[in-house]
Amino acid sequence: MPLSKQHKAENSKNLLPKTAINNGWLSGVEQHKSDFFSTRCQEDKISLLVIHNISLPAGVFGTNHISELFLGKIDPNAHPSFADLAQLKVSAHCLIRRDGSIIQYVSFDDNAWHAGISIFNNREKCNDFSIGIELEGTDDIPYQDVQYQQLAQLTLCLQQQYPLICHDNIVGHCDIAPGRKTDPGRAFNWSYFHQLLQKTKEKTR
Ligand SMILES: [Zn+2]
Repeated sequence: MPLSKQHKAENSKNLLPKTAINNGWLSGVEQHKSDFFSTRCQEDKISLLVIHNISLPAGVFGTNHISELFLGKIDPNAHPSFADLAQLKVSAHCLIRRDGSIIQYVSFDDNAWHAGISIFNNREKCNDFSIGIELEGTDDIPYQDVQYQQLAQLTLCLQQQYPLICHDNIVGHCDIAPGRKTDPGRAFNWSYFHQLLQKTKEKTR
């Protein structure tokens, strides 16, 4: 098989099925349920998608430490930079790893603890009305194409389920916590992501 085709075939097994959300959980992806969530208020309609990046240790990919952090199980002695992380109670709804595989930690219908002190369109506490997706990565290292593919597919699923997440309501953590957060960083190609999202929409029509 030509390399390019082989690559495509490998990637395509990662892609999410077209309709994939049941009771706030994606079907067909790994689930590790985190205790770091709170119940959404009925009035807080999901209307925002926040894109983040994370790597643990910083710049190292392919470890289980991100899941350990979101599950409250990180070993403070495993790396010097983890000492301060052990007390943190943080989570995201999903992580998209470098190979495109997705792990979900919190139901979309609950608040994950990803945004921190934040504001969007004059409204504070973005966790209350947003979904947080982490890309395994850093601000400066280019993301993998399969991560963009997965993010576009996942975003479309979320938009179908939560239609208030319109184009302008897909932002980076840097946009809702300016001066405090920089992710997903300059490495994240917004125009490529929006192009892919558009293409994904057209394909499923
Ligand atoms: Zn972030």
